Amino acid sequence: MSQRVAVVTGANRGIGVAIARELVARGLRVVGTSRSPDGKAAIEEAGAEHHLLDVTSDASVERLASDVGELDVLVNNAGTSMNGFDANVARETLDTNYFGALRVTERLLPALRDGGRIVMVSSMMGELSSVSPELRARFSSSTLTKAELALLLESFVTDVAAGTHAKRGWPSSCYRVSKVGMNALTRIYARELEGDPRRILVNAASPGWVRTRMGGAGAPRSPEEGARTPVWLALLPGGGPTGGFFHDERAISF
Ligand code: NDP
Repeated sequence: MSQRVAVVTGANRGIGVAIARELVARGLRVVGTSRSPDGKAAIEEAGAEHHLLDVTSDASVERLASDVGELDVLVNNAGTSMNGFDANVARETLDTNYFGALRVTERLLPALRDGGRIVMVSSMMGELSSVSPELRARFSSSTLTKAELALLLESFVTDVAAGTHAKRGWPSSCYRVSKVGMNALTRIYARELEGDPRRILVNAASPGWVRTRMGGAGAPRSPEEGARTPVWLALLPGGGPTGGFFHDERAISF
């Protein structure tokens, strides 16, 4: 059997570099991405190959896809948590955390081999309880499409710009909304891939609160601990769960 290939986005630091290092240790050929050439050293130090990637750029995603070719594992780890709360923050946060994961997955999905695994590095902040019951029903609808989900998330940006987001049931956190979207996307992909002969499993992981630039120095978990559930999902055996949300290798509710 040929060596399995994994792509890990945002692999130059934090949880991403820990995921890349562990997948290398498990025998995979890992392509770790960073937006800046400065990220190359950390990725190579983890034993992975480096590729530049800005998840907000179609051209950048296109270059990654044509250079990588076929793969077995995709870990959508790249993410941002910006300060402030306005329409620009909402747009940029969604563009990285939600549309970034969507852009990369859409482009790499055709190249995923039999038994492929997609892992969305999400967050407890993405729990559906973050939004109103009416929005919750829309996000968790079993017929929600990617096009409808994009419109729903774009309406958050419009509502923030108009100052009506609270009245319409949104939280005052762009990060939360981006991860609610990512979790909904996980369920949509799992549903879409149900009849796919490649038997691809798509799941979301909550890494817990982790000591990284995003999590801060006071977080209780190390990046290695944060990487554990994403790595477990990346290496799930055949017949494993799909469309689920996991924390400490256990299913949790959305
Ligand atoms: P870090 O801030 O340490 O790392 C974030 C990574 O994402 C960096 O590699 C960063 O690259 C990359 N990134 C940001 N924007 C882009 C972009 N446009 N294109 C490509 N890469 C990008 O955060 P963590 O390691 O803590 O976070 C990793 C994931 O875990 C995120 O999705 C986060 O939401 C999630 N998470 C983290 C928690 C925590 O407590 N730390 C808790 C729950 C979830 P660069 O170095 O260039 O900025």
